[in-house]
Amino acid sequence: MAKSSDALDELDEEQRAAVTAPAGPVCILAGAGTGKTRAITRRIAHRVHTGEVRAQHVLAVTFTARAAAEMRARLTALGAAGVQARTFHAAALRQLRYFAPRLFAGRDLPELIDRKGRLVGQAATRAGITTDQTGARDLAAEIEWAKACLVEPSEYEVAAAKARREPPFAPATVAKVFDGYERLKRAAGVIDFEDLLRAAAWGIEEHSDVAEQVRAQYRHFVVDEYQDVNPVQQRLLDAWLGGRDDITVVGDASQTIYSFTGASSDHLVSFPRRYRGATVVRLVRDYRSTPQVVGLANAVISQARGELARLRLELHGQRPSGPEPELRSFPDEPAEATSVARKCAELIAAGTPAREIAVLFRINAQSEVYEAALAEAGVPYVVHGAERFFERAEIRQALVALRAATRTVEAGTPLHDAVVGALDAIGWRPNRAPAGGASRERWEALAALAALCDEFAQERQDLPEGAPLLEAFNAELARRAAAQHAPAVDGVTLSSLHSAKGLEWDAVFLVGLAEGTLPIRHARTADALEEERRLAYVGITRARHWLWLSYAVAQIPGGRQRRACRFVPALDPDRPAPAARTPGRTRKEADGTRRRILVSCRICGTALISGADRKLGRCSACPSDLDEELLSRLQEWRVRVAARQKVPPYVVFTDV
Ligand code: ATP
Ligand code: MG
Repeated sequence: MAKSSDALDELDEEQRAAVTAPAGPVCILAGAGTGKTRAITRRIAHRVHTGEVRAQHVLAVTFTARAAAEMRARLTALGAAGVQARTFHAAALRQLRYFAPRLFAGRDLPELIDRKGRLVGQAATRAGITTDQTGARDLAAEIEWAKACLVEPSEYEVAAAKARREPPFAPATVAKVFDGYERLKRAAGVIDFEDLLRAAAWGIEEHSDVAEQVRAQYRHFVVDEYQDVNPVQQRLLDAWLGGRDDITVVGDASQTIYSFTGASSDHLVSFPRRYRGATVVRLVRDYRSTPQVVGLANAVISQARGELARLRLELHGQRPSGPEPELRSFPDEPAEATSVARKCAELIAAGTPAREIAVLFRINAQSEVYEAALAEAGVPYVVHGAERFFERAEIRQALVALRAATRTVEAGTPLHDAVVGALDAIGWRPNRAPAGGASRERWEALAALAALCDEFAQERQDLPEGAPLLEAFNAELARRAAAQHAPAVDGVTLSSLHSAKGLEWDAVFLVGLAEGTLPIRHARTADALEEERRLAYVGITRARHWLWLSYAVAQIPGGRQRRACRFVPALDPDRPAPAARTPGRTRKEADGTRRRILVSCRICGTALISGADRKLGRCSACPSDLDEELLSRLQEWRVRVAARQKVPPYVVFTDV
């Protein structure tokens, strides 16, 4: 049984300050692996233990279903079960399902579509545009951005120009397809993911009875990975809050990797100004990774340019020394994958569990060559995307078969036999795992379902013989599906960098570090390139102990030659490493010695890089107590910039 003191165990001074901060707005701004997620989990547990809050009144929003499941597990272990830890989508879906009859005139929630491609393709055809599947996908992504930013079809052109988007077609064309897509969707009576969030916010904004009930349920809010919140999610959060301020947010501007979908770290950065008097905590000690990994992560992010660069935080590794990261190059991708698979097998043979190893890449298509190589080497693997587990075709099929089995299976049949019988009927053979590709993935997913069944049977051993176990198991599956609580599948994780955020493994392979892949070919603007750099940073900081970075000179044997990723100059011996950008400036003393002058924020102590910050003596992420004169000067600078006039080079834009 967890004691209330457990929530305060193994926390450093700053983490403890965040955990024990009084009710009200709290903001933790900190780099990767510094214990942000740990701190918010402990904060919830601590407040539950002390009786300050009741578990069922807490809503913790995480970025992936896997992160939500992990948080629930940790809270349960800390003796604070019952907290709602969900993704925005899962929380919105639950709310809408409950209130559907009231919000949709007595009808059920419309069907949710998770892919826009088909309807977008139809809308494009109707608009007289010929496009292939890729074109439709790009259009769908652009529509997704607009909807996440709460932009209507009629507003699209202006908004896209303002956001300096590079749409796949002329903005007027995109607007037309967007409009057509919305009409087709309405006619078909379906909604997409952004509609889901909007409808949840709208349900509260427009219906005072719904607002009252939702707000009575959710009284304390926690948001992890807040740097990647988008406008529609923020709107829902505001609707939930309804002007209250018991909210804890954590984030790291250096890990903003979803701005292409409309996310913006502005929400995180301006939080202390939005909530004056918020408790702001900064963490700099990295508890996740060895100093070698931390050193490389710092080197990569220290080169960051642009608006977010000044918000980066230097990490200080706390863990004991480990192996140097392995930097490798290969003639082609199959050779790279074969070598990675061989190394995975070696690590497993030497005692690293397969689930503690991850292969991370920039684009999902890279997965295939690694799947084939791992299958060839006999290494079990899982393709990450657990959040879609219950939406997978074979799992849906299995659920239907299991429901049907309740009518045919006689009471008294052991659960295992009933379930394996149903899985057998849809073609799953436990001892015949296909070598690789989609069929292997399908097999692994069904294997996870079978494992879940055994786990469930184990837990319910106390039930009398003949009890309707299969019904109970089906109910458990339905509950998990609603909560998007997917079972863990064992094996080496194959994941895109985007889905790896927040997670950690003992050994990480960061592969395909070639120009054109990372940074991705279509990242042409300075902002887009910076986002690619942050992706590399996110990848590196997933490793606890052992890190491998590699690239293939050519994609296919004998193919066109590529250079190594610019963010890791050490991968490419021909590319000189740029000098690190250290905060502060050097001053020459009268006796000829050089001294580094480091000006720190007078509120939180962060080293100040920009001249404007140094002048103010505070960083723009800290709560401001600017005097009227400074305020008007800053605003004046903003106006001049908007008019594209020349401004002093040191001006920093703060959200005053
Ligand atoms: P990310 O930015 O990648 O999401 P994070 O800041 O959320 O990282 P956590 O995942 O909370 O970091 O913590 C990173 C690792 O460090 C975890 O394994 C966690 O258990 C461990 N850790 C955090 N704080 C401490 C501490 N005070 N003592 C020991 N270990 C810690
Ligand atoms: Mg985290």
